Amino acid sequence: MEYELSLIAPAFNEAQNIEPFCRMVLEDLVPRVEGPLEIIFIDDGSSDGTYERMQEAIGICEPVCDVAAVRFSRNFGKESAMFAGLEQAQGRYCGFIDVDLQQPASDMANMLDMLKASPHADCVAAVASRRTKGGLSSKLSEGFYRILGRSSGMDVIANASDFRVFTRTVAEALISMPEYHRFSKGLFAWVGFTTIPYEYTPQNRHAGETTWSLRDLCAYAIDGLLSFTTAPLRLATIIGLLASLLAAIYLVVQIFQRLYFGVDVPGYATLVVLILFFGGLQMVLLGILGEYLGRLYIESKRRPIYLVKQIQRSRMQGADDAPRPHDSLR
Ligand code: UDP
Ligand code: MG
Repeated sequence: MEYELSLIAPAFNEAQNIEPFCRMVLEDLVPRVEGPLEIIFIDDGSSDGTYERMQEAIGICEPVCDVAAVRFSRNFGKESAMFAGLEQAQGRYCGFIDVDLQQPASDMANMLDMLKASPHADCVAAVASRRTKGGLSSKLSEGFYRILGRSSGMDVIANASDFRVFTRTVAEALISMPEYHRFSKGLFAWVGFTTIPYEYTPQNRHAGETTWSLRDLCAYAIDGLLSFTTAPLRLATIIGLLASLLAAIYLVVQIFQRLYFGVDVPGYATLVVLILFFGGLQMVLLGILGEYLGRLYIESKRRPIYLVKQIQRSRMQGADDAPRPHDSLR
């Protein structure tokens, strides 16, 4: 029997949220899905008993929906967890949802209805209507998506979250991209297909705190940008050319001043400033080059995106017992 929907739920230290999450899904989503549903929990190296709660979730959800609990060997990050979930998912439709109850299951049901009702759509992406963060961070993230879209030539939906539901075709397309530095908002844009936005209101976290600091977010944004565009390298070339042009113009001006007006060429201060300026510029441009080189180095090792320590699955709905297509430990 085929699942209608595979819910992929990454969790890192969310022990207190697993049971309420299951209740939310059972109450608000399961009755609205026509067909069997599976929840794929990914324990991203938690240290607070999240995996044990996931195992208990199998009992809570039976016989209404199947549960798979995948435990990573350590914390690999949300992107890796989402990839592992995709590899496990069997459903006709797949959806990403956080387990902290910030993303209501009823919205997931609406998104699924919307996707089924639009014959040309392949993905529905939730966009937060009221950003829980401040105005500045909302503006910053909007600016980031604009830069990403323009520099990569991709169609990026601004402020679209990872809270999405999409078809099996899209899931397979995402799985076919086994890159190490993953940035799913960019991956979704890169694979194309037709995505429609769905406005929703994020709720407050049920328990615990977000694990994303401002520094993490900045690193994530830089990673995302560098993964999808080489525009900074082009920018470095352009800046280099401009700087050379300015230096040439300045040289000509100096020669004219000396020859025709007999002005003494002021030396020391200009020299120091120019050396420092160009020294700094060269370092920045080398840094940009280094960022790409570093990523190339990591990528060339072809290390697995995640490693699994344990997997447990319920088999209530009689889904295939054969190994899933992507069961190998990548
Ligand atoms: N998460 C994860 N691995 C991590 C960090 C977070 O799987 O290294 C999960 C987390 O448990 C949650 C989701 O990703 O289900 C979103 O994380 P969080 O709520 O901290 O982020 P925010 O909602 O603030 O974007
Ligand atoms: Mg959250």
